[in-house]
Amino acid sequence: MRWYRKLHWQIILGLLAGVVYGVIAAANGWGRFTSDWIAPFGTVFINGLQLIAVPLVLSSLITGVASLSDLSKLSRIGSKTIAIYIGTTAIAVIIGLLLVNIARPGDALPPEARERLQAEFAKNVSESEQQAEVVDDRGPLQLLEDIVPSNFLSSASSNRNMLQVVFVAIFVGIGLIQVPKDTAKPLLDMFEGLNAVVIRLVDLIMLMAPVGVFSLIARTITQLVGTGDVGQVLNLLGALGYYSLVVVLGLVTHMSLTYFTLLKLFTPMKLKTFIKGIAPVQLVAFSTSSSGATLPLTMERCKEKLGVSEEVSSFVLPLGATVNMDGTALYQAVAAVFIAQSLGMEIGLYGQITIVLTAVLASIGTAAVPGAGIIMLVIILQQINVPTAGIALIFGVDRILDMLRTATNVTGDATVAIIVAASEGQLGAPDVDEGRDKIKIRG
Ligand code: ASP
Repeated sequence: MRWYRKLHWQIILGLLAGVVYGVIAAANGWGRFTSDWIAPFGTVFINGLQLIAVPLVLSSLITGVASLSDLSKLSRIGSKTIAIYIGTTAIAVIIGLLLVNIARPGDALPPEARERLQAEFAKNVSESEQQAEVVDDRGPLQLLEDIVPSNFLSSASSNRNMLQVVFVAIFVGIGLIQVPKDTAKPLLDMFEGLNAVVIRLVDLIMLMAPVGVFSLIARTITQLVGTGDVGQVLNLLGALGYYSLVVVLGLVTHMSLTYFTLLKLFTPMKLKTFIKGIAPVQLVAFSTSSSGATLPLTMERCKEKLGVSEEVSSFVLPLGATVNMDGTALYQAVAAVFIAQSLGMEIGLYGQITIVLTAVLASIGTAAVPGAGIIMLVIILQQINVPTAGIALIFGVDRILDMLRTATNVTGDATVAIIVAASEGQLGAPDVDEGRDKIKIRG
């Protein structure tokens, strides 16, 4: 098959074309044209993915849990999954802390740049502080309360409540295991049917991926560069380049060291196969900045290309998209210390340990949507007594880092799904060979 017919190349082409168009549009002041005529295609693409997220999580988790014939299997797979999720997130935070403490990017920020950034982003800071206040104004067990909804329909009405949808699906799945098979069958058949349809819908939506990605990137670049002032963004990148570099280095280190080592140690999967299978997922995560929106594709690729069984992928991945955010946790650790350093504050050992704990927890509570990580960062800063207004310093580059950390988040989910599948003897042969890596539409 010709290279350009492969999905990941088409997405890369869309992405590059989006960058080129975005820069040209910003330089020529085509902001209005872009938002009127280009951006809607990206919105349609991302809406399509989000539209199927709740039915997908619901149908795949219910059928997944119900297919685990007994509860001991569910608790074994469940505890293994959660332990690996928390373990890898803690490693991510530690990598971030080591790098930011060695590189000390905060010391490199010139005082004029600091003042300029603080003035420029003061408005964004107060918005994030208000949103964080809602989250923070709660007791230590609030997360537990938040997981159990009092009304399912209201949870299903927003993708931000995915943790509640996950809970309800697991709960219903457990109920289905416990009623007689004949009684459970009609409901189970219905969810299996829904699941099959939703998975086909992913294929249809992904036909639009190259155009959707082009449009999302074009809009992001045009907005970033603003009203024709390319210099402003370059300036910002200059001042915050070292900080951004540390975050990127951390994300790359975590992916290549932690994930690849775990895959090598605990699974028979070849790295090349993994990368081939996961590349389109990373590209869509990068373009949409949302692991929730990327979930349908993550599930499809893990199942159909990387050989993860239905049973494991339908349980591990929806849970992971909601609670497992290694890239976000790593970024939050680097950002918190960077802000402290640029304000001339030192974070001692106690503060660093607090960052590990709060970043792991905060990343679990972070919604799988664009920009959620910076809101939870406010809470981490409060815990280590660093002025929350300091997030003004990093707002300008947050969107770009969000794209990269989301790509890391989804890679982490897929890695854990493969490890859990291998440990359960449920990892089949991958299918990413030449000629087969394209989207199929069944006639
Ligand atoms: N955008 C990220 C995600 O969806 C969350 C964040 O770090 O803002 O995974």
